[in-house]
Amino acid sequence: MGRASRHVHGQRSPSALHRSRHGPHHVPGHHRATYGDRDRERGVDASFGWFVEEVGELSRAIRRQGHAERVHEFSDVLAWLVSLADQCDVDLAAAAARYADGCPACGSIPCACP
Ligand SMILES: [Zn+2]
Repeated sequence: MGRASRHVHGQRSPSALHRSRHGPHHVPGHHRATYGDRDRERGVDASFGWFVEEVGELSRAIRRQGHAERVHEFSDVLAWLVSLADQCDVDLAAAAARYADGCPACGSIPCACP
């Protein structure tokens, strides 16, 4: 198989992927201390609903609002993404690392996908 499949399967950081499945992983800042209890009470489905609502607000900020509103909405979307990842036991640092060496599909920088 070519470079594409190697990157898609995440062999770049096997130790990070291993940690994310089998033990504690890094959650940015004080996010879990701040929201962990509420996240567990609310559950993944309700949290996903809030995430989608914030994505809608981000859409409006991008289309119709200024830079400060965009920063605000990006931060809200990120916070809900962090909450969801924590509730789903997904290590976002490991997820982001999938793109660290270029396009995970074609393995190139810049992307050479058709
Ligand atoms: Zn590509």
